[in-house]
Amino acid sequence: MSKASDIAVVGAGAAGIAAAVTAARGGCRTLLIDQRESAGGTGGFSGLTTLCGLYDDAGNMLNDGFAREFADAVGEGRPVRTGKLWVLRYRPERFRDVATQLLNSLPNLVVRWNTPVRDVALVGGRITGLNGIAVGAVIDCSGTAEVARTVGAECLATDDSTQAPAVVFPLHDIARELDSVVAATQVLLPLARAGLPPVSFQPHPELHSVTVKLTGSPEHAPQVIEFLRKNVAGFEHCRTSCTEFRLRRRAGRMIVGQYVLTGDDVLSARKFPDAVARGAWPIEQWNAAGVSRVRYLPAGEHYEIPARCLRAASIPNLFMAGKTISADVDAIASARVMGCCLATGAAAGNLAVAFVTSAQQQQQ
Ligand SMILES: Cc1cc2nc3c(=O)[nH]c(=O)nc-3n(C[C@H](O)[C@H](O)[C@H](O)COP(=O)(O)OP(=O)(O)OC[C@H]3O[C@@H](n4cnc5c(N)ncnc54)[C@H](O)[C@@H]3O)c2cc1C
Repeated sequence: MSKASDIAVVGAGAAGIAAAVTAARGGCRTLLIDQRESAGGTGGFSGLTTLCGLYDDAGNMLNDGFAREFADAVGEGRPVRTGKLWVLRYRPERFRDVATQLLNSLPNLVVRWNTPVRDVALVGGRITGLNGIAVGAVIDCSGTAEVARTVGAECLATDDSTQAPAVVFPLHDIARELDSVVAATQVLLPLARAGLPPVSFQPHPELHSVTVKLTGSPEHAPQVIEFLRKNVAGFEHCRTSCTEFRLRRRAGRMIVGQYVLTGDDVLSARKFPDAVARGAWPIEQWNAAGVSRVRYLPAGEHYEIPARCLRAASIPNLFMAGKTISADVDAIASARVMGCCLATGAAAGNLAVAFVTSAQQQQQ
């Protein structure tokens, strides 16, 4: 095998950025690979503009450390309250720029773009190499458990009937208020009457723009924009900066870990002795008709994610973060939001550093 890395991270979305920076800051020679041309993942490239899952229902930050650092660097202004929840607005280009700066700031962190996972060597039940590079531990942040799949580790599939994929795109130059349910419904109704697929709005009044989430196929996006321009007052001059409409999967595949976080754990705000991250986002399900069902935690509460959810059950040096953590379909419908992904990414980075350091000490 050529070269060697202590820790390899696969995927440079919110979770992978957090994992790679944390692993390198922990002193490990770290390799980050992604099949894309640069860092960002879903948070940087899909048109999303709100970081969810950073705060409890009083607006207090749930996770310190990297999640706070990244949110401080990326966020636009102060957190905003939407119903019972707090979100932080951001611009995707800023998300990508901050990620790139952080990843370039560490001499012991090597990044390889346009590099999909090709092969993963498994010897004696441990991963020993990734794409021909010797590794001490791997953190799967691919969103779809690509490393685990390659080595045949047990995974849980998500359920598209409760996690319906959607097309996300921003619309700019809107001369109309959309900030209340009534105001948004006045726009959504004509779209529905015209037989267009369901959409939901995240308005950004100060920017005269809105993020549209469309439960349909990518070719519907230009139709929706055209309809709004021609038929809805205030949208005459709307335009999108999105160059590629793509269907985005809300959840992909979760790796079975030493513990599987459940929807009951989330809704009962369960705490764990080996907690490494906190979440308070509700269980948010979306069906194929674009209708969401939201189940909240008790007021003032948060749940914890144990370290066991970030350690693969069958492979001691495989860790996971973000959308791939060990969680059932209900739990991941809460823990998949970016605030949680940043927190589990940083936690997985720390766990992998501890694993590699201990293994190196045992060899001495
Ligand atoms: C429609 C939709 C709306 C959402 N709305 C919000 C919202 O408003 N706010 C919020 O906080 N969250 C939202 N989410 C959830 C959130 O965006 C994602 O769950 C989160 O960004 C996942 O982060 P991640 O790092 O786990 O994975 P990702 O961001 O998906 O990153 C995975 C990375 O792995 C790379 N990769 C994949 N396969 C391979 C491979 N074989 N080899 C190498 N690299 C690979 C990918 O290129 C990618 O860069 C939404 C999700 C969707 C789909």
